[in-house]
Amino acid sequence: MATRPLAVVSNREPYLHSKAEDGSVTWSPTTGGVSVALDALMRERGGVWVAHGAGDADKSVVDDGDRVRVPPDAPAYALRRIWLSETEERHYYEGFANEGLWPLSHVAHVKPVFRAEDWRVYRAVNDRFARAVDDELPDRVAPVFIQDYHLTLVPHYLRQRRPDARIALFWHIPFPHPDTLRICPYRREILEGLAATDLLAFQLERDRRNFLAAARAELGATVKHGRVYASNHTTTVCTAPIGVDFDRIQSIARDPGLETEMARLRRELRIETPLVGVGVDRLDYTKGIPERLDALDALFTRCPGLAHQLTFVQIAVPSRSKLDRYAAVEADIDQRVAALNTKHGPGPGGGGPIRYRKSALRIKRLVALYRLADFCIVSSLHDGMNLVAKEFVAARDDLDGVLVLSEMAGSAQELREAVIINPYDVEGFANGLQQALDMPVDERQRRMRAQRRVVAGHDVFRWASDIFGGLDHLDPRSWPPAPGGHIQTA
Ligand code: UDP
Repeated sequence: MATRPLAVVSNREPYLHSKAEDGSVTWSPTTGGVSVALDALMRERGGVWVAHGAGDADKSVVDDGDRVRVPPDAPAYALRRIWLSETEERHYYEGFANEGLWPLSHVAHVKPVFRAEDWRVYRAVNDRFARAVDDELPDRVAPVFIQDYHLTLVPHYLRQRRPDARIALFWHIPFPHPDTLRICPYRREILEGLAATDLLAFQLERDRRNFLAAARAELGATVKHGRVYASNHTTTVCTAPIGVDFDRIQSIARDPGLETEMARLRRELRIETPLVGVGVDRLDYTKGIPERLDALDALFTRCPGLAHQLTFVQIAVPSRSKLDRYAAVEADIDQRVAALNTKHGPGPGGGGPIRYRKSALRIKRLVALYRLADFCIVSSLHDGMNLVAKEFVAARDDLDGVLVLSEMAGSAQELREAVIINPYDVEGFANGLQQALDMPVDERQRRMRAQRRVVAGHDVFRWASDIFGGLDHLDPRSWPPAPGGHIQTA
């Protein structure tokens, strides 16, 4: 691959500066596979990362151009921070992106809200990101990689300033069917924004097809061989399913300290049963947490005595809690957990069979939790990919544990050896849980081995380099890439 410097554009920044209690400034990297993989590429190739400066000490460390060299302990590239007022954040991020595009793109029966003011600010903020990229672009054709649905208009605004720029955008969430997209009054501008890329990548073939159909219907674009021709510009539309940092998770799983961490978790969570199930999610209405609790209720009801044998640990990280829909799902889950524990408790450790924690775990504890589990439930009503499913598999180098996975999660396209369930079918879901509990050890191992091959083969580094590789070599004569590349265009 060429070693040209890169530009990455995302809402979230890779490093955050904060004020410590004694007034000094500290910093921390953003965790999560995507940030880690893109940061690794940036360290290797240099360039600039443009992102919203969200840390409370972010302003105190930037230069006159709002730049700071990162990683702070071994500077390798520039982080250009974009400042947003609280009002801007409310309209651009919470409003247009999270109350509009997020429910529009997920089939979870939550009505999207599109407000003219949210849209106005979303456009203005996207334009600000594009201007920053234009200011900072390391060279004329440096690859620009934009992350996600918060920044759909950046390709268009950037293209106006830099007709030659090489632009890729990865859409992490499901892409809506054209009939659903029609709900959005601003759909044409969004589609034009996406069509201004050179390479547009989705998780799944379903998303790619939805985009191509929408581009045809709404923009009157010509679509041929996975390329969209609109407004004198061509974009290649492909799928590149995202992966996790398999090696890191595996090395945590192999660390001799893991056993201690597992014992500590058992103690803290008061797990005194031989069987353990886990669920790990952002507290979001797309994750199917109430449906999961209903299936567990059905399982405990049909297997009297099981509540004394099985503890289910649910980690739910509060998210977007200022929005009404999120507060409503949180209250619903609180109430269901309490009812379930009353109905099936008290059991070993007191309370009932569900341990519910509303705070985030760091990766080491998360891996320990994955390793404690006899099964892990991912029951999304709809999900672009779902990295928890892949992380669970990466953590299980003991080849044990069963993944119970919603057929509506993108990862179900790849993890076909999971126990696949429909979160809307309570009895069928409970059957899936029973199947997981009853599964003989040799079958568990066979299925886990097969899933691990998939997750190891397509990790997050491969994902990032596939996209940059695609962009680096993008030339109408050489695209699509030679067989063997992971990116699929047709
Ligand atoms: N996560 C975490 N700590 C927690 C719960 C979740 O670090 O306590 C991470 C998890 O490891 C995963 C991410 O949050 O990488 C969730 O990604 P996923 O694709 O499952 O769902 P999303 O939140 O992006 O919709």
